[in-house]
Amino acid sequence: MFSGDFHTHTRYSDGRGSLRENVWAALKKGLLFYGVSDHGPANIGTGVRQEKVYLTIKEEARNLEKEFSKIKILVGAEANVISLEGDIDISREIVSALDFLIIGLHPYVLPKTLKDGFLFVLPNLLGRLFSGIKKYLVRVNTRALIRAIEKYRPLVISHPNLFLPVDLEELAQVCAKYGVALEINTGHNYPKDEIVLAALKTGAKLMVNSDAHYPQTVGELKSGEELLLRYNFPLDRVLNIKRSELN
Ligand SMILES: [Zn+2]
Ligand SMILES: [Zn+2]
Repeated sequence: MFSGDFHTHTRYSDGRGSLRENVWAALKKGLLFYGVSDHGPANIGTGVRQEKVYLTIKEEARNLEKEFSKIKILVGAEANVISLEGDIDISREIVSALDFLIIGLHPYVLPKTLKDGFLFVLPNLLGRLFSGIKKYLVRVNTRALIRAIEKYRPLVISHPNLFLPVDLEELAQVCAKYGVALEINTGHNYPKDEIVLAALKTGAKLMVNSDAHYPQTVGELKSGEELLLRYNFPLDRVLNIKRSELN
């Protein structure tokens, strides 16, 4: 059903497999595209060591392509939002060298400034303990993601509403406006029906990705397929659907 898996991690960030192992796994699953998207450098303990690592990944991908002619390897990143204004942890220069960009919210990140630390990162960490600030978190998180979409026009927003709460409908509206997809992330077990509903209501696109951290789970997209079919979601609005599925 799917042409590719674009959200996967390797040892360059916190994945366990090498790029070669992941590509091989994707090929065995019958995918036409394999996208690597290691965590941005602001992820504490799990991101790439520095953003130049993406250039190294690109080089390795180009070499692997000579060996794997049946699959197209694309190099992207899963960037972190590090400020209230939607700044991310990868420079424009590196972003322009990438084949695609994923943006997502993660709790353990280094903020851009002290203010962003106090008003954005810290409240999200505390929010896990104090449910009273949830409304505030939804407001700042949604706003930060929307600003990031406006600034960087990513391909897809990773796992919306997973670690940090957002207003899905408001987010989906902006995604629809800019042609950015919301992700159905099969690697995390959390409520995803509401993402499909928000996309149906606003006209936003979806993309189904594995978020694989091991070669074994690359291309494991079955639960996403089931979810799309359950809601009769228009397949022409799913970015990584196989073209043959549309005829
Ligand atoms: Zn993520
Ligand atoms: Zn990820």
